[in-house]
Amino acid sequence: MPRKIVIIGAHAAGVDASSAARKTDRTAEITLITKEKYTGYSRCGLPFVIGGHISKFKDLIVFPPSFYRMMKLQLKTETTATNINPTDKIVDTTDKAGNTETIHYDSLILTTGAYSFIPPINGRDKQGVYSLRTIEDGQQIDQAIRNGARSAVVIGAGLIGLETAVALKERGLNTTVVEMLPYVLPVMLDKEMANIVHEMLEQKGLKIIIGKGVDEILGTERATAVSVAGEQIPADIVVVATGVRANTGIATKTGIATGETKAIKTNSRMETNISSIYAAGDCAESINIVTQKPHCPQLGTVAVRHGKVAGINAAGGYAQFTGVLGSAVSQLFETQIGVTGLTEFFAKRGGIETVTGTITSKTRADYYPGAKPIKVKLVVEKESQRLIGGQIIGGEEATQRINALSFAIQKQMTVRELAKVDTAYAPPLCETWEPMVLAAEMVLMRLRKT
Ligand SMILES: Cc1cc2nc3c(=O)[nH]c(=O)nc-3n(C[C@H](O)[C@H](O)[C@H](O)COP(=O)(O)OP(=O)(O)OC[C@H]3O[C@@H](n4cnc5c(N)ncnc54)[C@H](O)[C@@H]3O)c2cc1C
Repeated sequence: MPRKIVIIGAHAAGVDASSAARKTDRTAEITLITKEKYTGYSRCGLPFVIGGHISKFKDLIVFPPSFYRMMKLQLKTETTATNINPTDKIVDTTDKAGNTETIHYDSLILTTGAYSFIPPINGRDKQGVYSLRTIEDGQQIDQAIRNGARSAVVIGAGLIGLETAVALKERGLNTTVVEMLPYVLPVMLDKEMANIVHEMLEQKGLKIIIGKGVDEILGTERATAVSVAGEQIPADIVVVATGVRANTGIATKTGIATGETKAIKTNSRMETNISSIYAAGDCAESINIVTQKPHCPQLGTVAVRHGKVAGINAAGGYAQFTGVLGSAVSQLFETQIGVTGLTEFFAKRGGIETVTGTITSKTRADYYPGAKPIKVKLVVEKESQRLIGGQIIGGEEATQRINALSFAIQKQMTVRELAKVDTAYAPPLCETWEPMVLAAEMVLMRLRKT
């Protein structure tokens, strides 16, 4: 009898899990179940379609129907998994026409993802108030712009909020971002680094309000303005980008344990507390490599790595997930921003004593045309002198430098070792002294003074 693998969810984690399972067991019957009409598309690309950098939302579909046929995967779209019975190893489903089905599994993988969290702000149910998670959300925002929206308020200055605000500005809307915390990108950056981004966004014409919450979304049936500390900000469109929450409804109903991040708890093989049930992606918790504590960064990069491990194990192979650093990058207008590991703020909050070093350099030789400024901040644990975090703001190559710092943190590199790394140089590509090395030397100088 072929092994029966059922996967709930068919996006980053689900599709990668199915692909890894197929490569591990060529004969398994693999079924993917998803509520959505479109599957295997990049949510990460949504702001860039709104901004006009990508022509159609459907261009974001990374895994078209031919992929599922080629991999011999059974895909059930617009179908909801309503119940799991772990004793009989069955999943009940209902499709959009109301037809029900019971599917047997030998291994079950939950990749139920996350949903946009919308806080209980008065007026949040008005027309013109959106979140951005699905292609349909993106299409609605795009349509509102085509229908003549001229102003927008984005609530939340995290990665998704700022990428969306930039996109709305690029489409010509007067756009304001409202962030309750005292600085933008509060999960990615420390305050002084965030202030650089804030300034850049204002120079590009975005209005940014920090340290204040939205009191109410105004308008009769349709949003027309947002009230912030008594000020009324015009808003034909309101995008709520106040974070996401792990989708754990079906898991908790089944008795699957969640952890302190409120996402599903798994071991290093992505197994839940219930035999033969795995979890992966935004719905599942990881261990942070630096703190060794539960962490749920809810990133596509983590989802695909989780999915691969869960898929291999669910198909009878053996794979382990080694943890997360929350490495993330973004581009806002022409500025690239990246983070890996802990910021100084989160390190302090976790009780870690740190020494930091920040430098400003150029992405190419100073005389070479197109050289752009780059700022690198390193966070080092004082006692061990180990690198535990890095932040970069710059015009070029932020991703590769963040990846290099992520590797250094995973390999428990000390700042002294980082300062001695044998780096490369050519005028059109970088400076003689690699900015990460200069930042490491800055930390060493400060360590000598402490
Ligand atoms: C606008 C935006 C920009 C982003 N940018 C980046 C980026 O630049 N870099 C990055 O790394 N990450 C980014 N992310 C995050 C990334 O998209 C997510 O981490 C990733 O989509 C998680 O994949 P997943 O498969 O775990 O979950 P999801 O993508 O949430 O998919 C889960 C699926 O399961 C379905 N489902 C849930 N419950 C059921 C059920 N009971 N029955 C059937 N189906 C069910 C859901 O409908 C959904 O389709 C971004 C996200 C957004 C929204």
